[in-house]
Amino acid sequence: MGMEKHVLVVDDNPLNLELVGDLLELEGFRVTLLEDGVTAISEARDSRPDLILMDLRMPGMSGLEAQQQLRSDATTREIPVIVLTASVMAGERERLLAAGFDGFMQKPIDTLTFADQVRSFLPAS
Ligand SMILES: [Mg+2]
Repeated sequence: MGMEKHVLVVDDNPLNLELVGDLLELEGFRVTLLEDGVTAISEARDSRPDLILMDLRMPGMSGLEAQQQLRSDATTREIPVIVLTASVMAGERERLLAAGFDGFMQKPIDTLTFADQVRSFLPAS
């Protein structure tokens, strides 16, 4: 295990995944990119990433359902899960944080500040 942080990114849109993955790799993160929540839960159990970035709207399992399953499993409970959403509904940020996400990021992402935002959500160590 190196010093680089491992971020699991989950988004059903492959273009979003590629963009986020490229931005984080450029900043020295190790990234795993997955397109659905079920696979992401399995990966999180196996590899215990430092942080998970989770799209909200995905076919099949939603980001919220995936977050709740991660939280209910002792193996993955401590991993911060940050929601990435394009929703601009009033109160969405507060609603999602109250639902249990550890952080909120708005799409479209700001490519200049994205990596710093992600870093700010990493547990201290
Ligand atoms: Mg989506």
